[in-house]
Amino acid sequence: MGTLLIRHAEVLVTMDGREILDGALFARDGWIEEVGATSELPDRGDQMVDLRGHVVLPGLVNTHHHLYQTLTRVVPAAQSSGLFDWLRVLYPVWARMTPDHVRTSTRLGLAELALSGCTTASDHHYLWPNGSRVDDQIEGAAPVGIRFHVSRGSMSLGESDGGLPPDSVVEPEDRIITDSQRVFEQYHDPGPGAMTRVVLAPCSPFSVTGELMVATAKLARELGATMHTHLAETDDEEQFCLGQFSRRPVEYMEDLGWAGPDVWYAHAVHVADDEVVRMGAEGTGVAHCPTSNMRLASGIAPVSRYMAAGVRVGLGVDGSASNDSSHMMGETRQALLLNRLAVAPGIGAGEQMTPRQALELATVGGAGVLGRDDIGRLAPGMAADLIAYNLNRIEFAGALHDPVAALVMCAPVGVDHSWVGGNRVVEERQLVGLDVEELVEGHNRLAASLL
Ligand SMILES: [Zn+2]
Repeated sequence: MGTLLIRHAEVLVTMDGREILDGALFARDGWIEEVGATSELPDRGDQMVDLRGHVVLPGLVNTHHHLYQTLTRVVPAAQSSGLFDWLRVLYPVWARMTPDHVRTSTRLGLAELALSGCTTASDHHYLWPNGSRVDDQIEGAAPVGIRFHVSRGSMSLGESDGGLPPDSVVEPEDRIITDSQRVFEQYHDPGPGAMTRVVLAPCSPFSVTGELMVATAKLARELGATMHTHLAETDDEEQFCLGQFSRRPVEYMEDLGWAGPDVWYAHAVHVADDEVVRMGAEGTGVAHCPTSNMRLASGIAPVSRYMAAGVRVGLGVDGSASNDSSHMMGETRQALLLNRLAVAPGIGAGEQMTPRQALELATVGGAGVLGRDDIGRLAPGMAADLIAYNLNRIEFAGALHDPVAALVMCAPVGVDHSWVGGNRVVEERQLVGLDVEELVEGHNRLAASLL
């Protein structure tokens, strides 16, 4: 691969506390060797890019998604309901998916994320109808070129056993465990700079049994896998857990061994103060999904309290049927704005989140949630995952006194350039090596076939 030299960035944000004017970055074989002012760095590289007028940041990290849901955005019957009714409408639609739907939606969702500045994405796929498999997602992801944490997700508690999903979309638990091990052993790369990692991810307390949660945790800890599930998303779920288990969601998961530095929850909206403190002490992480929480009227996650308690927090766009978008900078802006509402008089209290704190959640915060110490910052020894935004566009007009804050506070835009491990993913706002028009056409055909 050779060397990559980025020069003359208007400002280069390292996310370890430095914002370097006339910034430069030198990488070799996909790894950053030097970061500093252009005048201090080498003046030659195999690939040299002048980024005058651009802000350069570490690539954004998405910690929660359901890529298949790009096929079911804006479904009329699910536009204006809360989580449980929304799921009841969509489960039978998703049950019609084939391997082709899974492959194509994975590719489309990751492409959309990449165009918005994402360089590492975690997906939570938990139903596998009509012979679809994790392998289909791996195949779908490859041409996009961003790092992919794929989940072997699962559902096992059907309606007839007191769960929410119809019996037709749940799987036998022994098959889930066997396939989880197969997928991990076949695809998980534990090393630095990994492009693919495998996460074990039962869907939620209301769609799998406690036994499956325990068995999954046991397997994950034998294998060295990270663990992920939805938790404390809505009041409905809290009532379900209190009714079925006489435990609040966080207590229930702690009982099942689902707490610790190898675990992160999606949403974690309805969490009590003492539970927040315990999550910080245990090292449990959170994928904060502000747009989805507003879209489904789920509530406001206590993000300021998480940050104060040392809970690992990253951002997630969540599945595209409860966000209808996979825009990571858009999500960063939503995190900032929802926090401002959370501390408004009459609603809550506390300091306003700053644009730079929102960017921290989207980069180094997300990396920590996914258990990665090789991405999320621009510093020697880190992977060369970086993104660049051209400031010369109408959205940023009048905001150039603080270009870094402008990325978050002005209308969200896509990236002009991005690299993952030193490889180009986006160039001049276009994905390298991927025909987006053709991808969208095929995806729309598949979406129409589901409804
Ligand atoms: Zn979700």
